[in-house]
Amino acid sequence: MLKEEKMNIYPDFYLDSVLKITPEFCKKNNIRGLILDIDNTLIDIDKKLLEGVLEWHRNIITSGVETIILSNSNKLEKVSKVAKDLGIKEYITFAKKPSKKGFVKAKEKLRFKRR
Ligand SMILES: [Mg+2]
Repeated sequence: MLKEEKMNIYPDFYLDSVLKITPEFCKKNNIRGLILDIDNTLIDIDKKLLEGVLEWHRNIITSGVETIILSNSNKLEKVSKVAKDLGIKEYITFAKKPSKKGFVKAKEKLRFKRR
């Protein structure tokens, strides 16, 4: 079997907005953590949080799903501000997606609560 870092990531689902990832969707699909992109996912072109994102994120973490930001951006200030606004403690910048490396690192940083 290939080492995890050598494997590629393929989507199981395509959703047109992060807001469509509901606690129910996560529970049904045994998703315990979300690795979140920033640009055009959490913020718009004017660097503003997309409408509903704050409430969505609060709802997601309240349900027990952990979140982390994985961004290709090297703009630390922008990424850290979004993380702070949403109350996300961990973020990774300059991720070089689609390289798997950042995803593996993000997965390691996610601290899943026992359940
Ligand atoms: Mg993006």
